[in-house]
Amino acid sequence: MDDILVVSCIDFRTVEKQRTLLRSEYALGDGDYYLLATAGAALNPDTYSLITQSKNPPARVINNDHRDCGYAKSTGGDSQERHEKEMADFGKKLEDNDKDIDYQANIIPMEEPDLARHECKAVVIMIGDPLTVQQAREKLDALGFTDEHDEIARPYALSPDDQTLWKDLVISLNLHHPQTIFIFASDEDNAGKLARKAQSMAKDAKVETVLVPKA
Ligand SMILES: [Zn+2]
Repeated sequence: MDDILVVSCIDFRTVEKQRTLLRSEYALGDGDYYLLATAGAALNPDTYSLITQSKNPPARVINNDHRDCGYAKSTGGDSQERHEKEMADFGKKLEDNDKDIDYQANIIPMEEPDLARHECKAVVIMIGDPLTVQQAREKLDALGFTDEHDEIARPYALSPDDQTLWKDLVISLNLHHPQTIFIFASDEDNAGKLARKAQSMAKDAKVETVLVPKA
């Protein structure tokens, strides 16, 4: 097993910065890794269980927190020190669970223009297998939404019963007011359930479902 898992926040301002970082520092492009995108990344207590409950835990985890994180601010602070400490604690927990895991962590900085951006056009809810990450990004790029979409991703299973998904959607809707919700899921029945749930939570949003091949 050489699976690589990238852990990130849902924040739209980090999507393009992370792609740049992963390409330049790790030679990883879209399609080379699984993606777990949840509010706060290492700061979110759900992140650890979303990784370790999997039957195929990753060999390598790259966690990317970011500054000016809404989740961080609402849960005890957004200082560089807090991110560093919690990312280290999170790595230690992963290593206690699997001593061979290769763990790396980064804090993505935010610059002046980013700090003034509070709204994005869309939010994506996706199964975060490598092929779907690649397909979703291609579609969002083609729509001109490259850095205009929050990303909520679960690497191994996307279920309407996963309450952590809906917690993330509430955060995206409240913080960034996206008008369109994209759902990238592999099974038609499951995708329909996810779409209905999302629509019930965001009555005025447009919900668009994209069926992807089963990983
Ligand atoms: Zn964040």
